[in-house]
Amino acid sequence: MNIGYGREEMAQAIAQQIMRVPYFNTFTDTTTPPVANFAARLAEVAPGPLNHVFFSTGGSVANDSAVRIAHHYFSRLGRPSKKKIISRVKGYHGSTYLTSSLTGFDDYHEHFHTMSELVEFVSCPYPYRRPDGMSLGAFCDSLVQELEDKIVALGAENVAAFIAEPILGSGGVIVPPEGYHRRTWEVCQKYDVLYISDEVVTGFGRLGHWFASEDVYGVVPDMITSAKGITSGYLPLGATLLSDQIHEVMSSETYGAGYFAHGFTYSGHPVACAAGLMNMEIIERDGILEHVRDAGPYFEERLATLLDLPIVGDVRGSHFMLCAEFVADKETKALFSDEVDIGSRIAKVAERRGLIVRPLGHLAVLSPPLILTRAEIDELVEMLRASIVEVMDGLLRDGVWG
Ligand code: PLP
Repeated sequence: MNIGYGREEMAQAIAQQIMRVPYFNTFTDTTTPPVANFAARLAEVAPGPLNHVFFSTGGSVANDSAVRIAHHYFSRLGRPSKKKIISRVKGYHGSTYLTSSLTGFDDYHEHFHTMSELVEFVSCPYPYRRPDGMSLGAFCDSLVQELEDKIVALGAENVAAFIAEPILGSGGVIVPPEGYHRRTWEVCQKYDVLYISDEVVTGFGRLGHWFASEDVYGVVPDMITSAKGITSGYLPLGATLLSDQIHEVMSSETYGAGYFAHGFTYSGHPVACAAGLMNMEIIERDGILEHVRDAGPYFEERLATLLDLPIVGDVRGSHFMLCAEFVADKETKALFSDEVDIGSRIAKVAERRGLIVRPLGHLAVLSPPLILTRAEIDELVEMLRASIVEVMDGLLRDGVWG
């Protein structure tokens, strides 16, 4: 809910578009003004060459579409063997058949058939849990080397793309080490592997920019996928932004006959795109990106004060995408047992106190509206502190910990 709840103008924009044209079938090779206008607005704010948009209905479908685009692109270039996608352990990319295969969680693969012939994984860039004694610099070197080794082992002629969230969200709000993004992008460029930046969470202001890839991390991806904040959650919408180069290959007869056989009934839904346009208008008019850039470091600083609590092992994230990681032993970073269910325990107490946090295993994840003021940040952190202390006291009293 990037722009926050109860935005009257959003409700009006949605209602007006419903009365004007609620739906139009894009299979007729035409479109509606909000779709064209929104695509143009996205191209304006996206990194340089990303000037084309494929609209869908959410993040999973946006990622699914990105993979199909990558496959079609290399096939039209006469390199049909370039199909494999490299993803990361703890990366989350969705719940369709294909994107659940791209997701690096064991429970997304157990009890399912996954597309293991298509997807390969490299390690999670998780600084807090890097090998003991390894410097951050050496850790980053090893991750970059691992990606290069993986491409070489698979054969660059078989690898279509690398997909990565700038900050791993559902995997645990994991911020890769300094330099990681740029260096992995350079490896991709070296081997002509497309770089797909999954900005489903980081897009639309959560890190203080429309998109984080270039503005925060200096990477110009070949594709960016977006959802969630693209309408601030008011309506379902997904977008796959692609470069001029990819679009040219997919649409020009120079690259042989064939068209991109991919599309959904609700590709380019006019009402969702009208919501997207209004969302951007509000973010811009209210200076929400500037607010996040201003208040984000304060939020990080305030949350870091929780590190004085004996069960808070790590506090991390960036701007309005943050989390606290709980440990039973700060020295060894040992986790609480599953029975303690520390994340849910803290989330329940926090909810009773009026604060909703997302329990994610042993984490408390915070992804609040981007309009949170400094005073509200103070209040949030105090409520979380009180909740953690209450749970800690309970665990001590019951002899479960301490
Ligand atoms: N990619 C990332 C980084 C996500 O966090 C999510 C959802 O949480 C998705 C993709 C999938 O998006 P959706 O749930 O809209 O399909």
